Amino acid sequence: MDSPSRSSVIIVGAGVSGISAAKVLAENGIEEFMILEASDRIGGRIRKESFGGVSVELGAGWIAGVGGEKSNPAWELANNSGLRTCFSDYSNARYNIYDTSGKIIPRKLANELYKKAVDSAKEKMDSAIRSLRSQESNNRGCGGGDVSRVTEPPLEDPLCTPRTPFEHAIDFLLHDFEMAEVEPISTFVDFGEREFLVADERGFEHLLYKMAEEFLFTSEGKILDSRLQLNKVVRELQHSRNGVTVTTEDGCVYEANYLILSVSIGVLQSDLISFRPSLPRWKTEAIQTCEVMVYTKIFLKFPHKFWPCGPGKEFFMYAHERRGYYTFWQHMENAFPGSNILVVTLTNGESKRVEAQSDEETLKEAMGVLRNMFGPNIPNATDILVPRWYYNRFQCGSYSNYPIISNNQLVHNIKAPVGRIFFTGEHTSEQFSGYVHGGYLAGIDSSKALLEEIRKERKTENQNHLLEPLLALTGSLTLTQADAVSSLHKCDIPTQLYLSGKLSIPEAIL
Ligand SMILES: Cc1cc2nc3c(=O)[nH]c(=O)nc-3n(C[C@H](O)[C@H](O)[C@H](O)COP(=O)(O)OP(=O)(O)OC[C@H]3O[C@@H](n4cnc5c(N)ncnc54)[C@H](O)[C@@H]3O)c2cc1C
Repeated sequence: MDSPSRSSVIIVGAGVSGISAAKVLAENGIEEFMILEASDRIGGRIRKESFGGVSVELGAGWIAGVGGEKSNPAWELANNSGLRTCFSDYSNARYNIYDTSGKIIPRKLANELYKKAVDSAKEKMDSAIRSLRSQESNNRGCGGGDVSRVTEPPLEDPLCTPRTPFEHAIDFLLHDFEMAEVEPISTFVDFGEREFLVADERGFEHLLYKMAEEFLFTSEGKILDSRLQLNKVVRELQHSRNGVTVTTEDGCVYEANYLILSVSIGVLQSDLISFRPSLPRWKTEAIQTCEVMVYTKIFLKFPHKFWPCGPGKEFFMYAHERRGYYTFWQHMENAFPGSNILVVTLTNGESKRVEAQSDEETLKEAMGVLRNMFGPNIPNATDILVPRWYYNRFQCGSYSNYPIISNNQLVHNIKAPVGRIFFTGEHTSEQFSGYVHGGYLAGIDSSKALLEEIRKERKTENQNHLLEPLLALTGSLTLTQADAVSSLHKCDIPTQLYLSGKLSIPEAIL
């Protein structure tokens, strides 16, 4: 068997964070990297597919956070590569809520219910903040530093809990789409409140190919660089003070000085990758504590339109007694006129339920809902596309969902390196987790932290190199070279450097 090839850095995963991390390394003179990607393509959760004659986005679809004081990097990348986008505004969705008999809820009632839901969510938020504050002061009192978080207020107000189908629909809109109405979200505060839907035949993923072109060898839009290895499912990471050894499902072995791990939080929670030695407890606890949101866009193609179009009609909702049952709909006429495509979005429990059943069953359910809204005479869909993000073992969900009020220690611990393994991905972004720009910025951040570590390691090596003649001359120094190296290393471990000034040092590194 050939001896394993050794790189400076191995990057696991070729989503936006893995690609941006690799680009920063290349720009800083680290050319000996290797990207190992489990699937047969780059992009990860940015993925287009041809459906009904157009390109639809199964994963990230919107560039969220545009028009503010700061410029969203994903928006800049989109503009630089001429990506076609269209403005999207789902604030009108609440005026297009249908009941099971096809009647639309009156505007006044919709506004009242919406206001009530916002007030109730704000009240819950305040209560949660109070609870977190008191928890923090208790922890301080007994020297705590855990990763606890508060998602719910201690007591649920029965009057505020959604009960009717309309209340469920509004609650879904508010919590599964618009949370910004309740609490400021960094993406919208920093980058602006506008959102643009990517509507480009080349797909959102075109941004990644443009980025890759800058540092990988490509020809006619294809990446031909051997430093990107597709269909390499990483199953084991063995790590020590000297480096990292990676074993893939097909039995290949790769070695590197450092590793950047960009797989999703869902994958980290699964047993796809085993670590030898195991990750320390502070790390595994943080990983297991972060929630994974499942978000599924189901696409349906029709022979002709039967839904209202025009201003304020792009989004509509279905009020059902079961929260989240085919609630949120969008027509694609603005993005792709004449495409006759509808998209319905499911989340969490409903996503998992639908992912587990056949597409025929899902089509039947969706058609039942549409017939309730638009009458029995609408045509059957001619095609359906159901992405399965939860059951995809390389994703295990759609994105990380930190509670809006959480202890900062949680995200710090998820992000902190363990020895020579650096963690990246949208879930490591303190401000922008869950978004494409979060993944992009996280990749840059992690590579910069790694470059700093490499710089320090080189400095240490140079110092040792200078010590060599002295050691040879004296031969009688009490401090051996090995001692010098290991003691330098001990106080130079990546986690300490990385976290210095920000956090207490996690006890166990290796
Ligand atoms: C349905 C959906 C809708 C979304 N909507 C939006 C939106 O509108 N706007 C927005 O900004 N964001 C949205 N997001 C979130 C956005 O897509 C992600 O935040 C971002 O793409 C994550 O990038 P990443 O690099 O962190 O992870 P990923 O893209 O998941 O990249 C990780 C890579 O690691 C690979 N991998 C996994 N396991 C292994 C292994 N064992 N070995 C080797 N490789 C492995 C995966 O195949 C993947 O390519 C959405 C996501 C989904 C799923």
